[in-house]
Amino acid sequence: MTMRDDTAPTHPSPAEPNDVIVVGAGPVGLASALLLAQQGRTATVYESRDELLLTDENSYPIGVNVRGQEALRRIDPALLHALRDTGELVEGFVIRNGTRTVAKLPSGTLIGTTRARLTRILFDAAGREPRIRIVTGHRLRTLDRDARRLDFTTSADESVTVDASRAIVLACDGVWSPARASLAKSVTGFDPVVGDWGVQFRVLFSQAGATAPGLDPAQHHIFTSNGIYTATLPNGIWCIAVTAIKGDPAEGLLLATDATDENVAALRAHLAEHAPLVPPLLREQDYRAYFSRKPFGGAVVRCSRIAFDEWLVLLGDAAHSVIPPTGEGVNSGLEDAFLVADALATDSPTPLADFERDRLPDLEALGEYAWQLKENLRTTDPVETASNVIVRILSSVAARFGRRDGEVEQRLFGPDADLTRYAETIGPWIAFRDRWTPVARTAVRGVLGVRPAVRRVITRIRQQKGQP
Ligand SMILES: Cc1cc2nc3c(=O)[nH]c(=O)nc-3n(C[C@H](O)[C@H](O)[C@H](O)COP(=O)(O)OP(=O)(O)OC[C@H]3O[C@@H](n4cnc5c(N)ncnc54)[C@H](O)[C@@H]3O)c2cc1C
Repeated sequence: MTMRDDTAPTHPSPAEPNDVIVVGAGPVGLASALLLAQQGRTATVYESRDELLLTDENSYPIGVNVRGQEALRRIDPALLHALRDTGELVEGFVIRNGTRTVAKLPSGTLIGTTRARLTRILFDAAGREPRIRIVTGHRLRTLDRDARRLDFTTSADESVTVDASRAIVLACDGVWSPARASLAKSVTGFDPVVGDWGVQFRVLFSQAGATAPGLDPAQHHIFTSNGIYTATLPNGIWCIAVTAIKGDPAEGLLLATDATDENVAALRAHLAEHAPLVPPLLREQDYRAYFSRKPFGGAVVRCSRIAFDEWLVLLGDAAHSVIPPTGEGVNSGLEDAFLVADALATDSPTPLADFERDRLPDLEALGEYAWQLKENLRTTDPVETASNVIVRILSSVAARFGRRDGEVEQRLFGPDADLTRYAETIGPWIAFRDRWTPVARTAVRGVLGVRPAVRRVITRIRQQKGQP
């Protein structure tokens, strides 16, 4: 589907006061444009692609929790209904080691869908809104904060400069945000931290109606040994995400692009080894199609600032990309969209600074949590691996005894999930981790020194995680 706006001028006229320029037509950019159009503002959305990726085939599974749902509801309750109609309510998560169930996390509030389905809902709504204009094929290259100018390259390789001096700019240009990179070069003291995930995700899809003994479609299943995740879509389609870990022996296979008989057999064997309940869901052609799909990488992004001169604000992944296991990427971005819209609806002379002041503590907590999950996924240090497992067990025990510091996941997408701020949801977990990790490390080091048997257990944990 092409959404190029052929009426877009090659050298656009300067934006008018009250105008909003949005860079990036991802879920966060589109939701922000829709919320600000409701306030009577006109929004021009510049998108680098000629066509948005709106089919499952080139997308991946996501869970929209109460934060994301709230953004859709505020735009129009019909969008929330559309999300429910095109997605599946997730009853919970089953964490497995091979065929064995290790833990269960109830949900009942999360809606499983794909990024493509969510984006389509927002894109269709933006298409119906006369105050929103979408200009495709315009890639932001740099911005000039002093001159308040945005420089784009079009897909025809032309340079286009947009005078944004009278507009508010919402930079929603994703994890590798050129807006953020330009600001980092020009703003003293603004030094965003960008930590590559060190893993890539790639998906397989089953045929409609596929079933497998032991796999309940109402649950999402997480196979811990090599990061394999199953989600369900309507019509009984299963989406299976695999993780290619940098440096892991399976990395080459999982990122291969040739659907040779050898690769197909090796992929089948990989799933049989690490997610033994999954193979009955998949047919030969499902494995073959995998090799034509794009892998998705990313980074955890942490910014000390997100608002600049009441002119520009970074939102979504551009400001605070996380890692998929947090489950908060799109949700925190959609929450940005309605919080920044709330700030812009006030009479304050400094709405963007107000938004930044209010939001930064939450983003710091979210960034800390995401960073830890990223490190847990990549670490090959046996002491860290074992102490992380110990702290994780301690925190689940704390949660079972009703302590708030142990229950991050429940508070984000459990049955009672709500819009409580991240600082409050994740903050107690950070304090718990900081208190108990040094204790666990000292204990593990001590045990490692005297008990070779423990070494063998740790080696086994690492092998199960697929680490050398
Ligand atoms: C495998 C995987 C699983 C995930 N699972 C979940 C999950 O379960 N729950 C969850 O909440 N999140 C999940 N996420 C994260 C979620 O997809 C992102 O957080 C979300 O898409 C961010 O939205 P965004 O609009 O900020 O950025 P994006 O979705 O990246 O959109 C950015 C848009 O900007 C455009 N763009 C980029 N550069 C430019 C430029 N220079 N000029 C103009 N336009 C530009 C892009 O083409 C794109 O359209 C997952 C991510 C991955 C990869």
